[in-house]
Amino acid sequence: ISMLALTACGGGRDEETGGSDAPAKGFAANSLIGVALPAKTSENWVLAGDLFTNGLKEAGFQSDVQYAGASTTVADQQAQITAMVTKGAKVIVIGATDAAQLSTQVAAAHQAGAKVIAYDRLITNTPDLDYYVAFDNFKVGQLQGQALLDGMKAKKATGPWNVELFSGSPDDNNAGVFFNGAMDVLKPAIDKGDVVVASKQTDVKQTAIQGWKAEGAQARMDQLLTSTYGSKELDGVLSPNDTLARAIITSIKGAGKPVPVVTGQDSEVESIKSIMAGEQYMTINKDTRNLVKESINMVKALQTGAAPQVNDTKSYNNGSKVVDTFLLPPVAVTKANAAEAYANDPKLAPLTK
Ligand code: BGC
Repeated sequence: ISMLALTACGGGRDEETGGSDAPAKGFAANSLIGVALPAKTSENWVLAGDLFTNGLKEAGFQSDVQYAGASTTVADQQAQITAMVTKGAKVIVIGATDAAQLSTQVAAAHQAGAKVIAYDRLITNTPDLDYYVAFDNFKVGQLQGQALLDGMKAKKATGPWNVELFSGSPDDNNAGVFFNGAMDVLKPAIDKGDVVVASKQTDVKQTAIQGWKAEGAQARMDQLLTSTYGSKELDGVLSPNDTLARAIITSIKGAGKPVPVVTGQDSEVESIKSIMAGEQYMTINKDTRNLVKESINMVKALQTGAAPQVNDTKSYNNGSKVVDTFLLPPVAVTKANAAEAYANDPKLAPLTK
């Protein structure tokens, strides 16, 4: 028996055999695609929902795009994914609200024959995840750490610089990835004594902001200013995203202190304005349009039965398996390169003029 015969034999149980060039594992062109997004904790999630709705429609699919509620996010998202499986979705794209709480739902999706794509945030501890599409989030952290050092050096040529560290929501797998990336750059400077975390709060648990809530970041900054910066100068703050960065700046201004070097991420409208006005120091451009486009490309490939394009088959071990990943490059943006960075973004480009 030749290899070919063996293959044909193996595939013979499928309904769609018999010499057609339609691969056995594709699905109908107008199938339902589920998109389960977390709460709208930053502008990128709002944008992603709109782009998925429009992009899937343009590609000829039916779509069901859902957001987890603001309070009971985990249970909401679990129920939404279960409903998508019941409705017969062929692919479910998930921006996880809690990376570690979806294994039951994605297992059910797999049993029903659906493919599962993790969008932006990895889903952990499950063998039932098929693909991951994201920006290189460790690199995001490294860019934030480096920008913090560069920004402080530009203001005051030599250290020690006093710094405080913030990280995102502990249930978001990305939060730790951003923090570890930043610490990869900052730790050597902390160890040398060039960077001093005056509060001594350097552990990711101490720096975390539950639910990525602006008010949480503002409250923690208020408290750090009172406990540690009565007379001390604060030179920089590592903030994991723009929403938290603006809350941190509000706190510092409220205390009557000069705004230090503050990092961010997401290229939110208000933060671009703040950067151009010389307040927030930097953000990260992770163009949501490209991330959604790559996700929809994966869906289109799966529809035809082809293997979606990936560019990393080694780095993303979710605790159960190494997940095939399509990774996009993030870009650090300060006032200096904002015009160039957003040149092709009709919403942001006018703000950089
Ligand atoms: C995203 C960030 C965003 C954060 C809060 C993260 O998972 O990668 O871009 O700032 O969620 O919404």
